[in-house]
Amino acid sequence: MIEMKGVYKTYPNGVTALNGVDVHIDQGEFVYIVGPSGAGKSTFTKLMFREEKPSEGSVIVNDYNLATIKERKVPYLRRNIGVVYQDFRLLPRLTVYENVAFALEVIEESPNQIRRRVMDVLDQVRLKNKARFIPDELSGGEQQRVSIARAIVNHPKLLIADEPTGNLDPDTSWEIMHILEEINGNGTTVLMATHSQEIVNTIRRRVIAIEDGQIVRDEARGEYGYEI
Ligand code: ADP
Ligand code: ADP
Repeated sequence: MIEMKGVYKTYPNGVTALNGVDVHIDQGEFVYIVGPSGAGKSTFTKLMFREEKPSEGSVIVNDYNLATIKERKVPYLRRNIGVVYQDFRLLPRLTVYENVAFALEVIEESPNQIRRRVMDVLDQVRLKNKARFIPDELSGGEQQRVSIARAIVNHPKLLIADEPTGNLDPDTSWEIMHILEEINGNGTTVLMATHSQEIVNTIRRRVIAIEDGQIVRDEARGEYGYEI
């Protein structure tokens, strides 16, 4: 489902963030991306939803080559990819319900069907009872659950989470992890960049470590591997 070959990324300011990356990730995998700050983890994930383009090499996601994809096809690619950020990025003036409905690609669906899909996904993240709240009225963990609901409402094949627990306390972080595990259990590929040694060493999954723009370790049931 994801294949990178000979990928380099140099930003316009001359910084080389990825320096020869080859990787293959199958549908349904759960992968942690670890490594020091500035190693290239965000750049690696940004290439997968065409937030950034590679300077060299090929990035294939869901059969699209993102190095050559036409601009007008990018929305179709993104429909199959959900993204979750450390800082939630919810629209502050919209309710929980509206934040999720807004993300739904409304293609010939009746208002009743839309409503059902939004409420189903809010149920999945256990927030049905807060559908009318605005983000400011929610705890951090609840806001992250809204952002996860928004990311999965289109039933994407791939969910990318960039430090999804970075702003959360430990209990809340585990809650988010259990939701991500459930989503992965339903067949969605999950890629998660993280600095949490505790999570990586407890919920053991594939670990890809990036340092100085290169993959330095790739283990099926890996460990975090850095001192904190
Ligand atoms: P990480 O997520 O591991 O912290 P990043 O991918 O964010 O790493 O950054 C890798 C390198 O690329 C860093 O040196 C960073 O400063 C640089 N970088 C990231 N984004 C940009 C950008 N938009 N423009 C220029 N340099 C960038
Ligand atoms: P935490 O400390 O665990 O992040 P909070 O103390 O912020 O949680 O919130 C606890 C509960 O109270 C949450 O369920 C949240 O939805 C609710 N809550 C917090 N602030 C408000 C508010 N301004 N209006 C309505 N409900 C709120």
